[in-house]
Amino acid sequence: MTTVLETDEHKALRAAVAALGTRYGREYLTKVIAAGAHPDELWSEAAKLGYLGVNLPEEYGGGGGGIAELSIVLEELGAAGCPLLMMVVSPAICGTVIARFGTADQKQEWLPALADGTRTMAFGITEPDAGSNSHRITTTARRDGTDWILTGRKVFISGVDIADATLIVGRAEDARTGKLKPCLFIVPRDAPGFERRQIDMELHGAEKQFELTLDDVRLPAEALVGDEDAGLLQLFAGLNPERIMTAAFAIGMGRYALSRAITYARERTVWRDPIGAHQAIAHPLAQAHIDLELARLMMQKAAFLYDSGDDAGAGEAANMAKYAAGEACVKAVDQSVHTLGGNGLTGEFGLASLITASRVARIAPVSREMILNYVSHQTLGLPKSY
Ligand SMILES: Cc1cc2nc3c(=O)[nH]c(=O)nc-3n(C[C@H](O)[C@H](O)[C@H](O)COP(=O)(O)OP(=O)(O)OC[C@H]3O[C@@H](n4cnc5c(N)ncnc54)[C@H](O)[C@@H]3O)c2cc1C
Repeated sequence: MTTVLETDEHKALRAAVAALGTRYGREYLTKVIAAGAHPDELWSEAAKLGYLGVNLPEEYGGGGGGIAELSIVLEELGAAGCPLLMMVVSPAICGTVIARFGTADQKQEWLPALADGTRTMAFGITEPDAGSNSHRITTTARRDGTDWILTGRKVFISGVDIADATLIVGRAEDARTGKLKPCLFIVPRDAPGFERRQIDMELHGAEKQFELTLDDVRLPAEALVGDEDAGLLQLFAGLNPERIMTAAFAIGMGRYALSRAITYARERTVWRDPIGAHQAIAHPLAQAHIDLELARLMMQKAAFLYDSGDDAGAGEAANMAKYAAGEACVKAVDQSVHTLGGNGLTGEFGLASLITASRVARIAPVSREMILNYVSHQTLGLPKSY
């Protein structure tokens, strides 16, 4: 894929990460998944090379870049067949929120460790009874002296088993209005009352999803991220990078599947010419490539807006990028599997499991329909039905 709208540094970063990804590749990830392990070697090496903390401030050991750079890292690892899902959460959401809003102590404690990969942080907002309606979350934080007590449930939270802590979105009572306002808390993995249960997902991924119970989890005052009254702002500061990074994840996966299909279509010959000579095979692959390129363009726009400090503009663009990338990924994977005929479903080629994996980008972190709702209401000014 040719790249536009990128500096020479971006192009060099892309090439360097692609080289790292190629050294590990799909085979590495497949072995890790089969062993029920985690891609620790790749995670550490990417961190050591400065890729995981590329968006974090230099004074805390990061690269001083932004989501534009971090999304390049995730996309290229994905395109090599070995994406690191926790990048969406640990440096992108948690790192961003702490860097922008954390206290001096929180920054010191977490940012160098998130940047050098020695610690990771998961992110938990989704709840069983709220789902897409995050206004309905009921995880509640109440004061007990200077401590906070957290009670609630979360679902589908990725990587809680390997993360040193989870950034939990809860609600605390506003002393002035009595209304509940969102607040973010850093909950250590082994905090008493913080229980997790792995969800049986039909996904071939190294990162697992968990249902969480917070049963009167007692946290010190320092567990609250930043300012109690700025929770909503902080939350959105983290959600836009999450959407941009999910777009990168989806584009990387789509590119990986497509490259496997293209190689196959160039070689597989059942009539006179390779199957790639048939337009019924070639055109859908070309369309998939175009869709991925377009999605990347939107992702670059969203990252550019976000990194320039335009949170409102980035919100719309990040939603559109996530939508476009999710759809492009699903189509690219579907067409790639089809291109391989029966081999599309074999373990040897390993593409069929991407059919399920690609659907994640359509559902999480915000579903296709909720983005269409957002664009209908916010961008087009159409009335709301819910
Ligand atoms: C692999 C995976 C990893 C995840 N990791 C995390 C994580 O680390 N942290 C975290 O907090 N969450 C995580 N999630 C959760 C994810 O963000 C949610 O699944 C997602 O927000 C959708 O919520 P839901 O599953 O409850 O679906 P629901 O909200 O129940 O929606 C079900 C369907 O109804 C549609 N729908 C709902 N409301 C409307 C409406 N108003 N109009 C039109 N259609 C509507 C949706 O689009 C969807 O198709 C993960 C999910 C998956 C699958």
